[in-house]
Amino acid sequence: MESKTLKGKPLTGGIGIGRVCLYKEDILEAAPRGRISADKVDDEKKRLLDALKKTGEGLRESYKVVSNKLSSLEAEVFNAHLMILEDSSFVGKIEEKISGELLNSEAALLDVKKVYEEKFKLLPNDYFRERINDINDIARRVINNLGLKHSGITCATCNKGCPIIIVAKDLTPSLISGIGDKKVNGIVAQRGSFVSHGAILARALGVPALIGVDNIVGNVYCGAELLVDASGGDVWVNPGPEIISRFKNRLNTGVCVKRKYGSGYVSTKDGVNVGLLANAGNVKDISIIKKCGINDIGLFRTEFIFIEREKEPGIDEQVKIYKKVIDSAEGTVTFRLLDIGGDKVLDFLPMPEQENPNLGLRGVRIYDRYPDIITNQIKALLMAKGEKPVKIMIPMVSTVDEFVNTRKKVYDILDELKKERRINPDNLKIGCMIEVPAAVYLIREFAAEADFLSIGTNDLIQYVMGVDRANNFLVDLADPFQPAVIRVLKDIVDNTKESGKDITVCGEIAGDPEMAGILVGLGYRHLSVNPYSFDGIGEVISAHESGDFERKADKILKANTLEDIKEIVAG
Ligand code: PEP
Ligand code: MG
Repeated sequence: MESKTLKGKPLTGGIGIGRVCLYKEDILEAAPRGRISADKVDDEKKRLLDALKKTGEGLRESYKVVSNKLSSLEAEVFNAHLMILEDSSFVGKIEEKISGELLNSEAALLDVKKVYEEKFKLLPNDYFRERINDINDIARRVINNLGLKHSGITCATCNKGCPIIIVAKDLTPSLISGIGDKKVNGIVAQRGSFVSHGAILARALGVPALIGVDNIVGNVYCGAELLVDASGGDVWVNPGPEIISRFKNRLNTGVCVKRKYGSGYVSTKDGVNVGLLANAGNVKDISIIKKCGINDIGLFRTEFIFIEREKEPGIDEQVKIYKKVIDSAEGTVTFRLLDIGGDKVLDFLPMPEQENPNLGLRGVRIYDRYPDIITNQIKALLMAKGEKPVKIMIPMVSTVDEFVNTRKKVYDILDELKKERRINPDNLKIGCMIEVPAAVYLIREFAAEADFLSIGTNDLIQYVMGVDRANNFLVDLADPFQPAVIRVLKDIVDNTKESGKDITVCGEIAGDPEMAGILVGLGYRHLSVNPYSFDGIGEVISAHESGDFERKADKILKANTLEDIKEIVAG
């Protein structure tokens, strides 16, 4: 078979080889079509009816939640879906396919859906599009209730248990959450940006990963052999013995962390200590972090515990998870309260449709609208904390009120819980994320109020530069070395100095060795990064005097263009 090379942008490093597993974003594409034997018709119909019943219950629940939180008008869509689902002719046609053609429920449902689509095509345009969306939505719910919990990774290759390379159009948080314990030797995506949540999670896995590989999906099939060189930015489809032997000694070594940071910091040559903290999204990440000798978790993204779930995890389950995180980390864990919205959607919490989700209901902005979910999370975090030190931080804050009100909520819940259990309030710290320009303008007020601050540069750059963080058409505009970004970072650190509060940079830029040096030069002393970045930033910081970084930062602050800054950085 002919070997082919494609180019991409490295998200991590390392070289991986494995069989292609094509990620099917849409559960409708991934649904397992099959046939049944004649003696299984009754069982199959029962399986279908159970799934339809469960789907009906889900739709009724969604109707209730949305009409309570928003309005019955906005919830009406769920009623319309319920009518189709309970229409005897729709169900009857699926049952006929099961008994007449001996199709499994998934295949029968998809065939009937196709017939409906053909009919809808005869309707006027807008109306037709909406009805197609409706029927697809219903089918997705039913397939999910027939047992397909994750849409993407279901091909025969993945299920054989051999090492796989996941190939996808987009790198989404659900793709990464759905990997589970599959042996993944690489990830290749057609689209994706460096700071989308899917990319951040992929980096945390430490496997070779590339984004921006043009039409990779059209160039491979499930089971094809693929070699990913995430250091050089190449992908070989059907690589052949010659290419494989070129990488022989470096295959599937993953991205390694070599250096140990015994005390959780790295020093410049003249002895200035820069605290290194780690970003994590699950318990597994913590074992890698401990191997590098890093103690504190500067950002634990709690929302990944909620993604890919049918139901909100209960308080007891959350307590167990948070306790495990607290107990496995050597130092203090900073839990970020639920930050959903934007590219992080929860299956069990339907959000109203929004034109610009990144400018809409996100982070702290959803807490008033969905008070139960955040109350439960805070309860669980405090119960898990008990006597141990814990930090909690609040995402996407734009006004001082948002911070103060959420902090009050935490303390009110703490007061309630303290009546029944021992929770030490003195080692609970509540901090604020700085991610929105409004918070930069109010930085002195936030520094006075919060116990600590943490700069989420992934979002801050998005909002300062006005470029969606998942957009890969405006890479230069979203470059962290843009003069406006550097100056914003300088203003923040200068305006918080007086308060004496700790301020950490926890966005992806802190893991870039060159940028880490600039951050030190600007005055930052705490960086929270993906554990695979420790080696790179440790090497740069320890090889220079703090004055070198300061001089470079000063020069950069005087430059007016990205090109000039890049030249100074390179020089
Ligand atoms: C950030 O915005 O920089 C951040 C750390 O949070 P997230 O990437 O999860 O939005
Ligand atoms: Mg953020």
